[in-house]
Amino acid sequence: MSGSILIVEDEEKLARLLADYLEQSGYQAVRLGDGGAVLPRVRSHPPDLILLDLMLPRRDGLDICKEIRSFSAVPIIMITARIEEIDRLLGLELGADDYICKPFSPREVVARVKTVLRRSGGRPQASATGLLLDEQRYLASLHGIDLELTAVEFKLLHFLHATPGRIYTRFQLMDKIYPNERVVSDRTIDSHVKKLRKKIAAVAPDNEFIHSVYGVGYKFEAPSKAC
Ligand code: CA
Repeated sequence: MSGSILIVEDEEKLARLLADYLEQSGYQAVRLGDGGAVLPRVRSHPPDLILLDLMLPRRDGLDICKEIRSFSAVPIIMITARIEEIDRLLGLELGADDYICKPFSPREVVARVKTVLRRSGGRPQASATGLLLDEQRYLASLHGIDLELTAVEFKLLHFLHATPGRIYTRFQLMDKIYPNERVVSDRTIDSHVKKLRKKIAAVAPDNEFIHSVYGVGYKFEAPSKAC
């Protein structure tokens, strides 16, 4: 059994203990103690599973879990200090895969990690939309099919995808994609978006991800049935 586990826990000793046990069981463990650092990390280095403590500095686990679920189906095990909390968490339907209550034995956590990974197939997951973006290699696939994007199209999709629902003007998008050039016409963005949509439609004709907002610009939004 192998895989990378992201441990989000601000109690340093506890996080280290969990990391030790997981590593002894053949996993790679990465620790984060700051709630604010979790989302950037998950986007840049998607883990195979996340152990997510509920009480964290800067940003709580509830919030983090909800936001991760907006773009990723990575297995999440929530950790809480209060057993009564679990019922409330279940009621919120956060999309976590399992819940563990403190105090726990590290062995129990490793066993739960194994079970959840086995259930999820033990491999990195595309987001709930079926879209998988590999930033290191500039590769984008949808439902396992390579979209064959150009570097500019990849950058555009990656940028919009990072903040679903947020609207960007053509100017903002140009600025992001051509940071050192000012001569590009704003119609350039329209043309890239058009090609990007065509490539997405070739794989999933019914799924619209890039939406035009009339008079403003563009936004990424997952088709509602995929959420
Ligand atoms: Ca904590």
